[in-house]
Amino acid sequence: MAKYTSPESHRSRLEAERADLLEEIERLRSLLKTDTDASTQEGDPDIYEREKTMAFLEQAQARLDAVERALRLIEQGQYGLCERCGQPIEPERLEALLDATLCMKCQSEVERLSARARRGLLP
Ligand SMILES: [Zn+2]
Repeated sequence: MAKYTSPESHRSRLEAERADLLEEIERLRSLLKTDTDASTQEGDPDIYEREKTMAFLEQAQARLDAVERALRLIEQGQYGLCERCGQPIEPERLEALLDATLCMKCQSEVERLSARARRGLLP
């Protein structure tokens, strides 16, 4: 059934993704920089674009954090283990989500708990 994938193959994919993200962040940052220099004219139509760019930048940085965390876990030999219960994360799940840090069971529990927290049912 589920084929075992070695952390090494994940490492090279994560490294490739990190390189892409760094490039993307660089590009988005320079986009923001040129925008500020260029125009703050009346009714600035670029404001919407800038906000979009900033949102992309935030997303890319969050992805980068997750990818770097996964790479650190590989270094430590902890990659692919659930942070919450310590059991190996399902290989299919890791395959789909390289930087997963929780197994499916814990993930759904955490989601349930945080949904309850959002509804104010937890202290
Ligand atoms: Zn778990």
